[in-house]
Amino acid sequence: MTKQQAEKKTVKFETEVSKLLDIVANSLYTEKEIFVRELISNSSDACEKLRYVSQTDSKVTKTNKFQIRIHLNEKNKTISIKDNGIGMDDKDMQSNLGTIAKSGTEEFIKKMGDKKGDINQIGKFGVGFYSSFMVSDQVVVRSKKYDSSSGYLWTSDGKGTFSIEETEYNEIGTEITLSIKKDEKEFLSKYKIEEIIKKYSDFVPFPIFVTSEEDKNDKKKDDKTEEQVNSAEAIWLKDKSKIKKNDYKSFYNQVSNYYDEPLTTIHFKAEGVVNYTALLYLPKSQPQDLYHPDRKNKLKLYVNKVFISDKLDALIPAWLRFVPGVVDTEDLSLNISREILQNNAVINKISTAITKRVLKEILELKKKKPDEFKDFWKNFGPVVKEGLYEFNDFHDQIFEFSTFNCSEKEEMITLDQYVTDFSNEKKKIYYISGENKENLINSPQMELFKNKKINVLLITDPVDEFWMPMKMKFKDYEFTSITKGEVDIEDKKESKKDKQEPKEDKDFVGFLKDNLKDKVKDVKISKRLTTSASCLVADENDMDMHLKKLMAANNQNISDEKRILEININHELVNKLKSLDKNQKDKFCEILYDHAKLMEGESLDDPKKYTNLVSELVSL
Ligand code: ADP
Repeated sequence: MTKQQAEKKTVKFETEVSKLLDIVANSLYTEKEIFVRELISNSSDACEKLRYVSQTDSKVTKTNKFQIRIHLNEKNKTISIKDNGIGMDDKDMQSNLGTIAKSGTEEFIKKMGDKKGDINQIGKFGVGFYSSFMVSDQVVVRSKKYDSSSGYLWTSDGKGTFSIEETEYNEIGTEITLSIKKDEKEFLSKYKIEEIIKKYSDFVPFPIFVTSEEDKNDKKKDDKTEEQVNSAEAIWLKDKSKIKKNDYKSFYNQVSNYYDEPLTTIHFKAEGVVNYTALLYLPKSQPQDLYHPDRKNKLKLYVNKVFISDKLDALIPAWLRFVPGVVDTEDLSLNISREILQNNAVINKISTAITKRVLKEILELKKKKPDEFKDFWKNFGPVVKEGLYEFNDFHDQIFEFSTFNCSEKEEMITLDQYVTDFSNEKKKIYYISGENKENLINSPQMELFKNKKINVLLITDPVDEFWMPMKMKFKDYEFTSITKGEVDIEDKKESKKDKQEPKEDKDFVGFLKDNLKDKVKDVKISKRLTTSASCLVADENDMDMHLKKLMAANNQNISDEKRILEININHELVNKLKSLDKNQKDKFCEILYDHAKLMEGESLDDPKKYTNLVSELVSL
């Protein structure tokens, strides 16, 4: 340790942290008590981390006596939370207690600022530690990391800066001391703190003890009478019949950082090729990080009650990343490294089995509680369907409950219903994709399908636009976009009397092709329009139109093939244009293209020119 490093260092909080602290410190939230939960949860994580390190690194002495101790001092108005977990050195303090590593925080800050947020959710954002400033004007952290030779002291009043210096702290672990604000004295009551621990932290897997300065002075009470406040049970290993609904809920709250009821609780023990117990939940609401690019899951892996990892991608597919819970197996050794776990036969077997089980539960939910399933599907359907975009053995199971909006039925339907209730001669599952159901149903490309009562899936989840063309078929039905290529819905009778197009129509189309060649790839007489004058479609082998818009919005590099303009040869507007002389046709034909663009919800390069042309044409 050089002299310079040992000096006290005062550092400014990252801007985001300062903003957050401002909100937290001035908050009028009634649920201030959650700071206890957040600090205990950090202590518990720290103990689990050290237990794991001691299993895998022979240089670290094993201990089984992990515990969390809370001490109250009414006279000094302090509360301290102490653990014998992994500890922090100066670098850890600097990066963990001064910056915000996770995204989504900005949104949280905004919501809290607008008073629309729920402080209860703070832990979800990886900023739980800062909740201590709701109740205290000063926070002091003393810590020694398991592999460090010295201890460190972190201090802050939560007003812009914090300082770190070396200190005498000789026990491995962390002690956080809060100086309780004048108005928050209730948190100095032992009874109150114990009540909070019971409420939020009962299943924390390490014993929690609460002591007070008064106890120390009370001769009758000594350490021997000390009682563990939480039950610290591995609830997942208990007999199902002995677990109360509320215990399941509390554990869900603890493991997921969600404070509502779970939608479904899935608890089972598997014996056979692999032996494990799983306690998993389907949540009611969307997690904040559902669409975070790291697609991290929410499952914890234990081996015989010892926490191993919550970072194991291989444990459940990313498209079930919203399922929180615990998997505990006896078929792995405790000191297995995380790298090996990512590609381990036992883990792969467990993953397949729990995936099947979760999918089965989703199907049950659909069958038995259709209303709850509807909400679930709205929240998580787009994520589960990511599973159809990758190669795996679960497609059939996902299809069993996947539902879609469609044009011929109010309710959402499954693909199986489509091919049985809306079968068609061409053996096609027709779909159209866009922003919302209402616009889709009114698209010009839908006109003939509506007339003929042919069902079309109305696709608004972008994920469907990716897997449908890739999957190609469901049973023997081919996925077919109705905004791409030719339409082919005439039945045998109709197609026999294929009529010749009159020469004047052909000439008009030829004229349009010439005139609009900078804007469109081709011009065709439409078979799909019945009431609109024109529409745009993608060529058979090109990218579908809405998908192209999605990709462009995400700054993806896409080829810029032009689209095909289809015109309704019987439309009044087309007839009017056909009857004009060449110069007038030159002038007005652009209307058909602009009209089709408007129907696609696109903006025009020159809207004024378009409206002028329309008015002029009407008065001709
Ligand atoms: P989160 O726990 O969600 O990451 P926090 O703001 O609560 O977010 O804590 C930030 C980080 O500070 C933790 O991830 C951890 O690295 C560190 N930390 C907090 N409390 C402790 C503790 N008691 N022991 C060791 N590290 C801790």
